[in-house]
Amino acid sequence: MNQLEQKDKEYIAGTYARFPLEIVGGKGSVVWDSDGKKYIDLSTGIAVNTFGVADDEWLEAVTAQAGTLQHMSNLYYTEPCVELAELLCRKTGMKKVFFSNSGAEANECAIKAARKYAAEKHGKDYCNIVTLKNSFHGRTLTTLAATGQEVFHRDFLPLTEGFLYAEPNDIEKLEKLLYENNCAAVMLEVVQGEGGVIALDKEYVQAVEKICHERDILLICDEVQIGNGRSGKLYGYMNYGVIPDIVSTAKGLAGGLPLGATLLGEKVKDVLTAGSHGSTFGGNPVCCAGALSILKRLDEKTLAGVSERSEYIFSELSGAKGIEGVTGLGLMLGVKTEKDASSVIAECMKKGVLVIKAKDKVRLLPALNIPMDELKTAVSVIKEVCAEED
Ligand SMILES: *Cc1c(COP(=O)(O)O)cnc(C)c1O
Repeated sequence: MNQLEQKDKEYIAGTYARFPLEIVGGKGSVVWDSDGKKYIDLSTGIAVNTFGVADDEWLEAVTAQAGTLQHMSNLYYTEPCVELAELLCRKTGMKKVFFSNSGAEANECAIKAARKYAAEKHGKDYCNIVTLKNSFHGRTLTTLAATGQEVFHRDFLPLTEGFLYAEPNDIEKLEKLLYENNCAAVMLEVVQGEGGVIALDKEYVQAVEKICHERDILLICDEVQIGNGRSGKLYGYMNYGVIPDIVSTAKGLAGGLPLGATLLGEKVKDVLTAGSHGSTFGGNPVCCAGALSILKRLDEKTLAGVSERSEYIFSELSGAKGIEGVTGLGLMLGVKTEKDASSVIAECMKKGVLVIKAKDKVRLLPALNIPMDELKTAVSVIKEVCAEED
């Protein structure tokens, strides 16, 4: 164990099982470690570095804002967050935005807005929120409660009350839950990320939207991981032909800075009033300047590039030796390998490619603009590792 690892173990809470690797820098989709060894990065800080590391345009936007005004608080007006909110609304048709600092907080706001809407419109007991089994919505006590995986709950009971879990892609079970309980909202990831990179069925998501609209139950899409261009459209739900009432997003939004956003549709746009919610760092000017530079570049051409790269990965890896299947959407992909995923990940790392895990799959989350030659090299390494005999 080197000195950094030792100190990390001594001083940092042991919540992360880190790989034995120290990354010190990078450019685009290439990062390097403390020995100067280079890696093609298909992990992007877990779908955060939208255009890779130290992207020129992003860097310029962020440093210019840091040198002008790094923070001021929400007691005053500042321009970057207003511009960003306007752009988010124009690109999605949503009406208002609340800014926070993470995915969990973006979901927390979505849940608060849904409960307040339902309480005011239907009564206080309309507080339940249905989420899906195998979902992941965050680590705060409320977003843990929303997360439909018991392993995450165990040590932290009691959690926030009022969450019910439905089997994904089973519309009858969902209908029954909504019928038997007074519900404020249904919350889902159109592609379950931490759950194993599994895209929900289109017919199911459309049926959920229909039931929700009929019964004035809000549809919340958690776009924290699939959002911001990764699906090949600006937001994942746009691949499904549905319009949610609330959208939460974070990870890739500011291209590497902590920023969460909760987008509020027509029904809920005025639910949050002065004093009902807040965040000291929310809408921070540097984060918002970074997000503006990212969002402006998520145009038709960039999104077409995402789909093109996605098709390339699917076509190369589906049916390849040692690979059982590829799931997911756009550049959020899960590869089910015959070998144990952890050993594939370790072997890829040795050969200079960074990939991560999702349940029992190898998860690929490359930068949206990863150069084709780097992607080709990385994919060939993955194929080689999966095909090798042990
Ligand atoms: C990562 C993730 C979260 C939590 O985001 P944090 O920024 O870690 O709080 C919530 N929902 C989904 C779908 C995620 O992938």
